[in-house]
Amino acid sequence: MSRQPGRQFLNIPGPTNIPDRVLQAMHRPALDFMTPEFWEVQVECKENLAKILKTEGEIMVYASSGHGSWDAAMTNTCSPGDTVLMCETGRFSESWGEMAEAVGLDVVTLANDWDRAFDPARVEQALREDKERKIRAVCVVHNETSTGMTHDVEAIGRIIRELDHPALLMVDTISSLASMDFRMDEWGVDVAVAGSQKGLMLPVGLGISGVSEKAMKATETATLPRKYFDWNGIKALENGRLRFAGTAPSHLFFAMREGLRMLLEEGLDHVFARHARLAEATRRAVKAWGRGNGPSLFGRDEGALSNSVTAVRMLDGFDADVFRGKALSETNLALGGGLARLSGKVFRIGHLGDLNEPMILGCLATVEMQLKRQGIPHGEGGVDAAVAYLAETR
Ligand code: PLP
Repeated sequence: MSRQPGRQFLNIPGPTNIPDRVLQAMHRPALDFMTPEFWEVQVECKENLAKILKTEGEIMVYASSGHGSWDAAMTNTCSPGDTVLMCETGRFSESWGEMAEAVGLDVVTLANDWDRAFDPARVEQALREDKERKIRAVCVVHNETSTGMTHDVEAIGRIIRELDHPALLMVDTISSLASMDFRMDEWGVDVAVAGSQKGLMLPVGLGISGVSEKAMKATETATLPRKYFDWNGIKALENGRLRFAGTAPSHLFFAMREGLRMLLEEGLDHVFARHARLAEATRRAVKAWGRGNGPSLFGRDEGALSNSVTAVRMLDGFDADVFRGKALSETNLALGGGLARLSGKVFRIGHLGDLNEPMILGCLATVEMQLKRQGIPHGEGGVDAAVAYLAETR
């Protein structure tokens, strides 16, 4: 392939664009990671992660992708054969459930259509029926990246509290953290599962967990095998020193320090509002394309459509992967593909992380241009609708 001019428009839902400030923060020599200089970096990172997770609980960081934090959530708190409830939201809830099964848990899936918001009443019913209180954890993906839908963690937390059920609430916030409001303590979340490469604007490579006191307590009786991800091995200051399981990925920590500073400088509420605006501009464009039987919004519950990623349902008879393959090879626009049962049926526009108006407009204009070029029927005026919305809001 000949050289692609310009920068790639990275509109997959993670990894996201890494800001120059973050890249530059990594452009430095390696250092002895067992020194106060580096402990300070880690301490600042953990303090700022706690602000973003909105928790006073413990913060754990590992050299891993988000899968590591999934694993840590289960192995630190559960014992072989424990029952966990998995709210079905899409490919990521399915995949987290597969992981839980693989480590020896009994996973009960609360089935749900992928294009619908998960109904918290389903959790209430399951917990009420659990007379012996055997359910160890309720697991939910806050923002299901495979479908572009956000699910009501706050309501699920309220239900667990109101029923006074001992289950832990475990929430995957991998594609919502620092893009949408997430309130770990207020919502009663016991384990928040996060990763570095989405809203936090960092390279992939850091798994992150927020852990409540109740979840820390659960480690005392949990007997699933664990070592690398053992929270008690890495949790706290020991004689003023921070511990890390193995050699700390110091450059990723320098990146994280900068990324977190940037988010807090912008202000979390502003970050969330920016995501909401860019998402709404995207939705308006997709709605216009969908008029007269064109590609349309995948999610059917308007109020649950995600502010970090929009899944677009391709027309029958057209392959979404062919569409995005051409968008990438011809125009250097990277879009996300449909996962598992949605493969070829949807494409996904990621609008999270370090993104501004020209970037999303460039993406939407290129999608529209590719729809025309590839002869995919669609309604006119998608970009106009996005421009009009952005022009009238600030
Ligand atoms: N959960 C969600 C919601 C995700 O979007 C992803 C990745 O896209 C994962 C889990 C898995 O994270 P990782 O790919 O970093 O292991």
